[in-house]
Amino acid sequence: MCDSRAQVAFKYLLAVYYDARDTLGPREKHDMPSGKVHAACSAVLTPVAFGTAYALSGDHLPAAIAAASGCVLGILLTPDLDQENLGMSERWLIKRTLGLGYVFVMLWYPYSRLLPHRSPWSHLPIVGTLGRLAYMGIFLAIALALGWKPPFIEPELWMSLLGGLALSDAGHWALDTKFGFKRLRPQPRR
Ligand SMILES: [Zn+2]
Repeated sequence: MCDSRAQVAFKYLLAVYYDARDTLGPREKHDMPSGKVHAACSAVLTPVAFGTAYALSGDHLPAAIAAASGCVLGILLTPDLDQENLGMSERWLIKRTLGLGYVFVMLWYPYSRLLPHRSPWSHLPIVGTLGRLAYMGIFLAIALALGWKPPFIEPELWMSLLGGLALSDAGHWALDTKFGFKRLRPQPRR
């Protein structure tokens, strides 16, 4: 369909535009941890998520694996999705999924437009995590309305997964607070 071809072209142009803007005039001053540092922080917290969930769930290995997975997922579902610039994980997705990552970028584009970068709504622990879940809930509701039937997953595993994700987000906030913004203050849009 010519429509989908136009969409692909638009996504490509969008990515090129963001890349060019990053290169020519970065919006972010180097006053805060990079995506790599945040990803490393989530990776370091992953065994913590695993161990905590394992202990809290009474040695339930699937719960521990779910918590660890949630923490790793935090690298992708990062609070920095509130940036219009393509993040490290988005670039990775685009490169490694034969361009399918553009879909991810497009889904999160409204989010980045809605929230100023480093807004408490995206960065504050728990609040930011719940906000992103609510945002994803919109697309889930659309998928359900279109007839998609999600596989059943035990509530305990969901809770563990979300706990791991919340831990990753809390680590992100801690790093940003220590190295970047002493006051949690959104950047004005330029
Ligand atoms: Zn951040």
